[in-house]
Amino acid sequence: MVFMKMPTIAYHTLGCKVNQYETEKIREALERAGFETTAFSSRSDAYVINTCSVTSIADSKSRAAIRRTLKLNPDAYVVVAGCYAQLEPDQIRTIEGVGLVVAHEEKDNIPERIIAHFGCTDTHHPTSGGRPRPRMRTRAVVKVQDGCDQFCAYCVIPYARVGKTSRPLNDVLDELRLLAEFGYKEIVFAGIRLGSYEDGDIRLPQLIEHATRIDGIERIRLSSIEPWEVGNELLDTMIHPKVCRHLHIPLQSGDDDTLRRMNRPYTASDYLGIIERVRARIDGIGITTDVIAGFPGETDGEFNNTCALIELVDFSRLHVFRYSPRPGTRAAALPGHIDAHAKKLRAQTLIEIGRRAMIRFASSQIGNTLEVLAGLTDNYIEVAFAGDAPPKGEIVRARIDGVDEKGAVQAVLISNF
Ligand code: SF4
Repeated sequence: MVFMKMPTIAYHTLGCKVNQYETEKIREALERAGFETTAFSSRSDAYVINTCSVTSIADSKSRAAIRRTLKLNPDAYVVVAGCYAQLEPDQIRTIEGVGLVVAHEEKDNIPERIIAHFGCTDTHHPTSGGRPRPRMRTRAVVKVQDGCDQFCAYCVIPYARVGKTSRPLNDVLDELRLLAEFGYKEIVFAGIRLGSYEDGDIRLPQLIEHATRIDGIERIRLSSIEPWEVGNELLDTMIHPKVCRHLHIPLQSGDDDTLRRMNRPYTASDYLGIIERVRARIDGIGITTDVIAGFPGETDGEFNNTCALIELVDFSRLHVFRYSPRPGTRAAALPGHIDAHAKKLRAQTLIEIGRRAMIRFASSQIGNTLEVLAGLTDNYIEVAFAGDAPPKGEIVRARIDGVDEKGAVQAVLISNF
């Protein structure tokens, strides 16, 4: 098939920031090659769906996204990548109309495969190191690490993204310089196990230090870091004014027996100790977390321990997942699966605890002047401006003015920098 006009292409990403980054790389390569990016809701010549498989809901959302594209344009070239494509390629191939299912190890070839499919000849080479095209010029996700070997009992990721790898320091720094040149003020370091970043003797704290020296990059944020990877060296690095006062530290459970069954290498009191260390070093830090409701065998007592720990920590945001068995994982074979209704009730209880904690944290900031970029404070509070809103890509100073019962936070612009 040879197109006279360059084809249009739309993208849809499910799941984590690593996936977001990988979709952006595909988009950039194809835009350099002349493809026109369109909205995912529109009729397009091609679609790329970067799937997730972290829960069974993620699997079904991935399938729904694929079906949606085929309704929008039954003749479209539909390319499916990501963790669900890696783990269940045959399930995806049964959906009539899917053009290509790509395994993780082949995802770098996606732009070339799409270009070859459309027979585009008057293009630049998509991987020739050309510059990415900026989009929002505010916050850019930068993947620095991939893969996990922890094998938490509920998690399918170590089977989908096998082994840990880190990008070379210079490669990351080159990308940051380019992003700064394009006007990006904030970068978010992302990885499946970000805390295990390693390039020779450069670990995450040194990587952050290098990033702070890049002119134009004003804010550095970390996507998520496992509790056992929050070391003092990292916290010392985070004192730098360019590093956002926010850590996302997955808890998963606040009960020692549940944590053991999950193969999480810490206890509830270890976790509390980590939080204490973090707060002692970084004043006003926002700490967010993930928690699983209804892990196999979770008794009422175990669940209550999780609720109690969450109340105690006062997280600024809580992501609640209902446990869903992932094929091939250890937890799927454990006895004592919790019925769907009980899981739902537990999840609702956790969500309510999280909502109250979020309001407490935001309320503790009322009257403080914080730096805001694109509606987000450095300590991870989403704000809406009463009155004049600041220019989109600028970091501004704003005073936190109020919080409503749903957790919506109002801010007043104080000054541009
Ligand atoms: S640390 Fe555990 S939860 Fe996180 S990706 Fe690895 S196995 Fe999954």
